[in-house]
Amino acid sequence: MKAHDGMYIAGAWRPAATGDTIPVVNPADEQVIAHVPAGGAQDVDAAVRAARTAFPAWAATPPAERAATIGAVRDGLAARKDEIAGTVTAELGAPPAFSQAVHAAVPILVAGSYADLAATYSFEERVGNSTVYAEPVGVVAAITPWNYPLHQIVAKVAPALAAGCTVVLKPAENTPLTAQLFAEIVHDAGLPAGVFNLVTGLGPVAGQALAEHEDVDLVSFTGSTAVGKQIGAVAGAAVKRVALELGGKSANVILPSADLAEAVNVGVANVMVNSGQTCSAWTRMLVDAARYDEAVELAGAAAAKYGDRIGPVVSERQRARVRGYIERGIEEGARLVAGGPDAPRDRGYYVRPTVFADVTPDMTVAQEEIFGPVVSLLRYEDEDEAEAIANGTVYGLAGAVWAGDEAEAAAFARRLHTGQVDINGGSFNPLAPFGGYKQSGVGRELGAHGLAEYLQTKSLQF
Ligand code: NAD
Repeated sequence: MKAHDGMYIAGAWRPAATGDTIPVVNPADEQVIAHVPAGGAQDVDAAVRAARTAFPAWAATPPAERAATIGAVRDGLAARKDEIAGTVTAELGAPPAFSQAVHAAVPILVAGSYADLAATYSFEERVGNSTVYAEPVGVVAAITPWNYPLHQIVAKVAPALAAGCTVVLKPAENTPLTAQLFAEIVHDAGLPAGVFNLVTGLGPVAGQALAEHEDVDLVSFTGSTAVGKQIGAVAGAAVKRVALELGGKSANVILPSADLAEAVNVGVANVMVNSGQTCSAWTRMLVDAARYDEAVELAGAAAAKYGDRIGPVVSERQRARVRGYIERGIEEGARLVAGGPDAPRDRGYYVRPTVFADVTPDMTVAQEEIFGPVVSLLRYEDEDEAEAIANGTVYGLAGAVWAGDEAEAAAFARRLHTGQVDINGGSFNPLAPFGGYKQSGVGRELGAHGLAEYLQTKSLQF
């Protein structure tokens, strides 16, 4: 697999300050496929300085020109779609068809949406006797995870560029090759030197140095709640803007009037996709008592059908974590209907598609984010109990509601303490704001709400 042995800083690939490297492992066969530089504080500092130097000119660039450059990035993503899909498959282990259909395709949509928004967004408005300007926040630190490696990069970098900010990206150490490809695309799109910079490296080293850097104006982080809390504390102490996209434990509420088979089948598929490594996955399925046994049967059959078709999880550490949760579920009295903690293959970090029944809201598998192909079925007696269970975790990222008609489902969805809810299945909308209530995060990504994160307002009274 092609890899750069430098980092993309100030428009060029430069060697890291130390010669340290990080191995990149293919989770499907456990082979080392590349090495990338392990950046440290010196590299982060060089990248932040490059971003600071580039900021005034980029901030002053007319929005239509910024839009054209983001459009060129979108075109580059489209032109290199097959290469992107192959790279995500190699370093994340995602099945090739899913890499094509989602990992490589969604970023094209999102970049395109910001090319449009940069051109049409109202960066200036008259309010009473004031003119209010939306100005770029400044230098953005973007720290991203591995589970949707390119989507999470584009969901930060595209709106930041549209706003007129400059960026230093620190991608996850498991998936740096996708980030290197993105840097090549940005370079070829003709972005001025220093507007976008890439530092690869470990979270507690490069990530922490970037989050703590005093010349960063905004930290936008996607990842675990534990690290998000640390980053929020550091940003708070420095009175820096912060955006956090964290974990979830989303409820899939199937109301008594819903088409049960469709809701269960789509619900199981939603958890199995990307091997369960989706922060918004509907990992808790809530079914009314009268149809609970039928739902358990349907869910078990749906999971069994996946067999070997799901990809591995990202790493040995992640597989150990997921298996630990499955064992914990069994110990706490949940009933295993499909899957289990045993390894389905000798090689690769695979986990069996797993379904738990008789899960009660207090169990660990009903409270903590597993980030693997595990779905838990919970029983409710009436809508009030369904609401209490759905809202009964520290998270509030996403969810789903199914009912005989959309209006009934939408009315129930308004009772959920969560940032996004899919009604009778829903479908991805790159313009809809995405982000969490409660400990699932601060701020929103995508669409105009995502762009506003990178802007600050100034009002002039005259
Ligand atoms: P993680 O928090 O360990 O890592 C995320 C990123 O932060 C990586 O780039 C990592 O290198 C960096 N990092 C780690 N420690 C750091 C530190 N001390 N300072 C600065 N940066 C640091 O998470 P992960 O294991 O890579 O990802 C899985 C988790 O991410 C899951 O729990 C999932 O819920 C969450 N996630 C949330 C969303 C969302 O949009 N809400 C999306 C994807 C993943």
